[in-house]
Amino acid sequence: GDFETSLETVVIGAGPGGYVAAIRAAQLGQSVTLIEKTHIGGTCLNVGCIPSKALIEASHHYHDLISSPFKGVSAKEVSLDFSEIQEWKDNQVVKKLTDGIKFLLKKNNVTVLEGTGYFMDENRIRVMHEFGGETYTFENAIIATGSTPIEIPGFKFNDRVLDSTGILALEELPKKLVVIGGGYIGSELAGVFANLGTEVTILEGQSAILPNFDKKLVSYVEKSFKKLNVAIETNALAKSAKTTADNVLVTYEVNGETKEIECDYVLVSVGRRPNTKELGLERVGVELDERGLIKVNDQCQTTLDHVYAIGDIIPGLALAHKASYEGKIAAEAIDGQDVAVDYKAMPAVCFTSPELASTGLTKKEAEEKGYSVKVSEFPFQGNGRALSMNKAEGLVQLVSDKETGEVLGGQIAGVNASDLISEITLAIETSASIEDLSLTVHPHPTVSETIMEAAEVGLGLPIHI
Ligand code: FAD
Repeated sequence: GDFETSLETVVIGAGPGGYVAAIRAAQLGQSVTLIEKTHIGGTCLNVGCIPSKALIEASHHYHDLISSPFKGVSAKEVSLDFSEIQEWKDNQVVKKLTDGIKFLLKKNNVTVLEGTGYFMDENRIRVMHEFGGETYTFENAIIATGSTPIEIPGFKFNDRVLDSTGILALEELPKKLVVIGGGYIGSELAGVFANLGTEVTILEGQSAILPNFDKKLVSYVEKSFKKLNVAIETNALAKSAKTTADNVLVTYEVNGETKEIECDYVLVSVGRRPNTKELGLERVGVELDERGLIKVNDQCQTTLDHVYAIGDIIPGLALAHKASYEGKIAAEAIDGQDVAVDYKAMPAVCFTSPELASTGLTKKEAEEKGYSVKVSEFPFQGNGRALSMNKAEGLVQLVSDKETGEVLGGQIAGVNASDLISEITLAIETSASIEDLSLTVHPHPTVSETIMEAAEVGLGLPIHI
């Protein structure tokens, strides 16, 4: 090209990985350019974490009204306007947040370029958009292009066979929904529609839904799905979907037996694949592993020294907070700081009913690492606040080192598990012991007391059990 603008730090993708990396790099004095092809905020803010949580809350509110969990409280006339919920989610939640991110990027002097970025060579990047494209030279790059829903054979996406993005944007409420894949995305969205009155069936290929969570925790979710009449077919192999004008016929196989189910919408939520194609990575020598994820070291540096990669496109949990954490590390590494990622306390949450959350090591993982492990549990049934919220289903499980008492991990099923898990994460991060947790005064009555109580169980001195 003729004159090529030279960029200092270029970030590709404006999800929770990329926009956070861009802001941190700018805070550290780098001149930062952020390239985004669709929408600022990425999957998380636009078609992932945030819109799904908005629908989850609205659906719980509706369900509590039509089927009040409190004796003596009931509503006579309850109405549901799904399109109004969608309008609220889009304009009052998603738009407010993405506008906020745009403001923050501006405030931090991050230049945003709309377009698709790809590498021309080791030091040049091209940004393509509807009016053509420009080529830039760059000093450092952070790749944060995220992931995309996987399509499976027999289930070509269309108006009725949807991925998570499609179902989050639905204009009408499905009467009958088939969810293929009972991982956390499928289970969360199954819950939304079941709460709103849709007849939901989950087809799960493995022997149980939420296979990444402890069986004991998952049993609480299974119980609540049962109450909502959500049908769960395990060991189910989804074969095909035949779409007509207003219906879909799903064929699947269980233990060799072929079954059919009719519905008006299908959600395929069987996983996501990294967006590493079409970036020109092979051209510049950024290597991928056998699963197509970008290989990185503990500074998120790829096999090309001045190129970093973060978030869903590198190994590890595909979660927003992990992407953001890596984004800060990559920006600081470019700044020359002596930083490294440490995943020993990485929380994961599933926003089902009840919520499931885990952090650090499970008992099995701790044992595999050679620890002599102590597991201590406290049930939510023994917690005054949980009972008075009428949400006493669940438990806290602490995994600690039998010798030193050091907290190694934790698992929670129960109300507000998503918030509670942070205390255990902090304990692991700061190498606190179960004694530290037990000596920390927790306000009464709060659900957080279950963590203190689980620690006391571990010390053999439980008060309320
Ligand atoms: P993304 O958020 O995917 O952002 C990547 C961005 O890069 C996108 O905006 C994309 O348009 C852009 N891009 C891609 N290629 C290019 C290119 N060549 N040039 C320019 N731009 C490009 N995680 C949680 O932690 N908690 C949750 O509750 C949660 N719920 C979820 C619910 C759903 C329905 C889904 C689908 C996901 C959920 N996730 C959740 C996962 C979370 O959204 C992802 O882990 C997170 O968004 C990954 O961040 P990222 O920055 O790596 O990528």
